[in-house]
Amino acid sequence: MQRASPSGLASVFFPFVQLFVWPRLSDHSVFDPGLSSNTSGGIMIEDAIAYVDRTIGRSLQDLKRLCRIPSVAAKGEGITEAAELVEKMLSEVGLQTRVYETSGSPVVTGKVDTGTKRTLLFYDHYDVQPAEPLDLWESSPYNPVIRNGRIFGRGTADNKGDLISRIWAMKALKETGHKLPINVKFIVEGEEEISSPHLPEFARANASFLKADGGIWEFGGSGPGGTQEAWLGLKGILYVQLEVQLLSHDAHSANACVLPSAAYTLVHALASLKDQRGRVMIRGFYDGVRPLTPAEVEAATKMDLQERVFKEHYGIEEFLNGMSGMEVKEAYYNKPTCNICGLDSGWQGEGSKTVLPAKASAKVDFRLVEGMDPEDILRKLRLHLDQNGFSAVNIPWHEGYPAAKAPVDHPFVKVVAAANRRAFGHDIDIHITSPGSGPLYLFKDKVPMVSIGCGDFFSRVHSPNESIMLENYQKSIKRIVYLMDEMEHL
Ligand SMILES: [Zn+2]
Repeated sequence: MQRASPSGLASVFFPFVQLFVWPRLSDHSVFDPGLSSNTSGGIMIEDAIAYVDRTIGRSLQDLKRLCRIPSVAAKGEGITEAAELVEKMLSEVGLQTRVYETSGSPVVTGKVDTGTKRTLLFYDHYDVQPAEPLDLWESSPYNPVIRNGRIFGRGTADNKGDLISRIWAMKALKETGHKLPINVKFIVEGEEEISSPHLPEFARANASFLKADGGIWEFGGSGPGGTQEAWLGLKGILYVQLEVQLLSHDAHSANACVLPSAAYTLVHALASLKDQRGRVMIRGFYDGVRPLTPAEVEAATKMDLQERVFKEHYGIEEFLNGMSGMEVKEAYYNKPTCNICGLDSGWQGEGSKTVLPAKASAKVDFRLVEGMDPEDILRKLRLHLDQNGFSAVNIPWHEGYPAAKAPVDHPFVKVVAAANRRAFGHDIDIHITSPGSGPLYLFKDKVPMVSIGCGDFFSRVHSPNESIMLENYQKSIKRIVYLMDEMEHL
């Protein structure tokens, strides 16, 4: 996951000791023999489930093998090697593979067409975040080890563990002689951690490949007390660099009596973007924002966002404007943001330096909800700056993409919930959307995507000592087996 990683944001909700609930393996629905040729009832799928248990060591070997490749997109390392291994693993479980070269890292795809009614799509990535700072790792980031019921290594949670668990679900069905009850596709890219710059290129050229009846996105895991969570969407983003230069070079600060200040111009411009209650003052900023649908309100009402824990985690007494209850949920799921990510000007070192800086810059991100277009917001931002006397503030660089989410009442969401119940033995918590961002918009209107995975609160995604619980990993494989079983009933 990238940027304000969804699990990073969500992780503040998961402080409790995990409470494990073993799945009741007899608690499964019965196959419809008319839809699947090689299954005669619910019992049959259990041999695939038993296979998962029996071969867990081998599947972990596969995970270790992939994690040993330091496929850091930001450094361009290990990319070819990882893409080749993923292709090999996909083809070994019966998928017809193809590697799409892009202007950046290749996109590995796999598909199996069984001629059945339904198609399931997986979106994953084989790249990882840099492992630095290396001295904070208790074991080597690229030599995964198991301790205390967890496997540690860069990529175990984000997202190589999910990818391998999905591949092993395919393997379990194949090796136990099951004919796949659905068609399956995989899209595994190699630049997710650097904002997927070339995925749009792939998506445009292969629009039909993105179509499916349901899709599983790349991240997810368990929340408070071990409850699994599903995320049905991702917010969009507009990220801009704001820059002001008013002098040819830094001046002695005594000259502030006659010279203009870039730093003040920038902070005045930034202050004009938002009022003191946090409402964005850019004209037309909220134009596209739609209220939550009744079904979304119902889902939000059911969710417990653990306000107390959230506040404790950040050491605050109150949320912004004293929000609570449904207001917090509305903000979390359906409010766009305007946030200063970084500010830079003048002297930041020890002691004093009396200087009037020639330049000032800021990095600002806007999290966007459905109905907002990043290019439109960029235009409105430019207009706002010009109309408020800040034409000197330049926007030399920007990037972004829109939000997307699956309808909360889509039947595929119920299918995922049913599969989760069979694997984990409890009801999955449904988040309308994550407050984080990702390239989900490319799949909008092509497939309802649900994000589930084998991570958890302690996974330390993007940080040293990244890990997943072996138990979650094993059950996540089973959840995908059950999902494939449930999907033919979609
Ligand atoms: Zn990530």
